[in-house]
Amino acid sequence: MPARTGQQYLAGLRAQEREVWLGGERVHDVTTHPGLARGAQAVARLYDMQFDPTLRDVMTFTSPTSGEPVGRSFDTPKTRDALETRREMMLHWARATCGMMGRSPDFMNVTFAAWGAAADYFGEKRPEFGENMRRYVEYIRENDITLTHALINLQRSRNPTGMFNLEEGTALQVIRETDAGIIVRGARILATLGPLSDEIAVYSPRLARHSEDQNAFAVSFAIPCGARGLRFLCRDSFDLGRSHFDHPLSSRFEEMDCIVFFDDVLVPWERVFLLYDVARLNQAPHATHSNAHAAHQGAAKNLAKCEFVLGIALLMTQALGNAHLPHTEERIGELMLITELTRACMRAAEADSAIDQWGVMCPAIVSAECTRNLFMTAYPRMIEILQLLGSSSFLITPTEADFEGPLKPAIEQYLATDTIGARDRTKLFRLAWDVAGSTFGGRQALYERFFASDPLTRARALAAIYPKGEAMERVLAFLGQSDEE
Ligand SMILES: Cc1cc2nc3c(=O)[nH]c(=O)nc-3n(C[C@H](O)[C@H](O)[C@H](O)COP(=O)(O)OP(=O)(O)OC[C@H]3O[C@@H](n4cnc5c(N)ncnc54)[C@H](O)[C@@H]3O)c2cc1C
Repeated sequence: MPARTGQQYLAGLRAQEREVWLGGERVHDVTTHPGLARGAQAVARLYDMQFDPTLRDVMTFTSPTSGEPVGRSFDTPKTRDALETRREMMLHWARATCGMMGRSPDFMNVTFAAWGAAADYFGEKRPEFGENMRRYVEYIRENDITLTHALINLQRSRNPTGMFNLEEGTALQVIRETDAGIIVRGARILATLGPLSDEIAVYSPRLARHSEDQNAFAVSFAIPCGARGLRFLCRDSFDLGRSHFDHPLSSRFEEMDCIVFFDDVLVPWERVFLLYDVARLNQAPHATHSNAHAAHQGAAKNLAKCEFVLGIALLMTQALGNAHLPHTEERIGELMLITELTRACMRAAEADSAIDQWGVMCPAIVSAECTRNLFMTAYPRMIEILQLLGSSSFLITPTEADFEGPLKPAIEQYLATDTIGARDRTKLFRLAWDVAGSTFGGRQALYERFFASDPLTRARALAAIYPKGEAMERVLAFLGQSDEE
């Protein structure tokens, strides 16, 4: 099956029985459960965009194996133009969700596409793993499979060395091998989109901190979400079943985060990509450049999010009549700055892209990674700015029902401003609240702080790739100038 429609995606979720728990109850159908269904529909709408006649050429490309149209995010671009087209596709998806579904399927698609191109890396010691990767990437591309991933092991305590404190009975590990595959047991976090995906990938985070003697924990694989012994435990759903007027974002874009328990789960041999190989697992994102491709996807999402928050802020200040006040302009200027830095990093990553040893046009890693690191502090600051601009207006927000109740005349009289009627003002500020104040908005800020790892790991990741020599050489050259100059 080439690129899927939304209906085909939803049918795929229904067809695969999986163990998902939410609020103490087992979810029988993730596509109809009130806490998950509208998130599933949002993902379905993304897949439908692949068939929009005005977008189709950007959203899909011709499969190198079947000749059918397949999702563009599975592409491994060979030219700068193709890299930009792939980003254009990702930006369409990100804008469709206002940047609020960080784990739209393209995130994992670009990662696996990079791994497919670099399959030899996985097969260097055990050639069968390279073949597994090649076949798997073709499978997910040709079937438009939706993936979640869980990279982080739960820890019972934190180790000051920065090494993961991996313990038997908590972290995910291989407990034995059989003719059919490996058996894994343990728990991982935090599978965003877990209940709404077809497959789950397990590998290690950037700069994975496994030590050589922890190699039973070193494993990379992907299996169906319905695999026996796999259990997804959801957090509270932030979709409370209210109208789009009342909860504009949480009623649409609940992507859900899960703890994943692996209770002696069989991973068939053909789905194993690396095993016991700590060094290769740790190096995989860098050696295959999947980190650059994932960061490029993140940059598109960040840009969509910046544009959306900036747009809300501008409309808020227009509604409140404070747009011309100097401190408002200063704050709006800060939002513009973050937006343009994000856009600039994304474009620089494309402008400085180069063909890598896997034959793929690879975004420039430093520029791409910068938007991820920037966003860990910039996005919470954007939220703070919204709060400062909006103040009590976030709470002068009657519900849709109030507009139909006995207080309607009073609401309409007193909540109107010089520039906007009461209903439109309320609608705007309920949206702003879903960004800057609600549980949904709070989770978005937490997501941007942590989704790509903790701040220490992110800082180290940037330091590891930054061309430090150039900066030092300039200073040394200056120091070396003769005193007579
Ligand atoms: C909303 C959300 C969605 C996510 N989605 C996914 C997903 O889809 N897939 C996935 O794999 N992961 C996902 N993550 C998980 C993310 O990768 C982790 O949260 C992140 O790597 C941080 O790990 P942790 O939460 O265990 O933090 P912790 O290790 O609990 O860290 C807590 C704090 O302590 C600090 N700290 C921890 N250890 C040390 C130490 N040794 N020395 C000094 N300071 C330390 C950290 O810097 C941090 O500030 C998601 C996270 C969030 C918040």
